[in-house]
Amino acid sequence: MVPVKKDGTTVLKCPKCGYEVKLTEKAKEGYRQRSEVSEEKKRGVMVAEERRQEYDQEEMEEMRRLLLENLQESERESD
Ligand SMILES: [Zn+2]
Repeated sequence: MVPVKKDGTTVLKCPKCGYEVKLTEKAKEGYRQRSEVSEEKKRGVMVAEERRQEYDQEEMEEMRRLLLENLQESERESD
């Protein structure tokens, strides 16, 4: 869901199916919280990347794969 300006108000719109929801205060709060979780996971991927030297290549690839899977999963759920 991405925020889109419409008729002077902001709505959340799904770029995949076009579903729209009015951005109430409650929806804003939920959206903000989900965004933070998502950012947290993206940072997790970056931290794992920075710590590359501490793991062997195989371990690193597996960890990154799991983190990205996790991230994609949460993006599907917030749809
Ligand atoms: Zn959708």
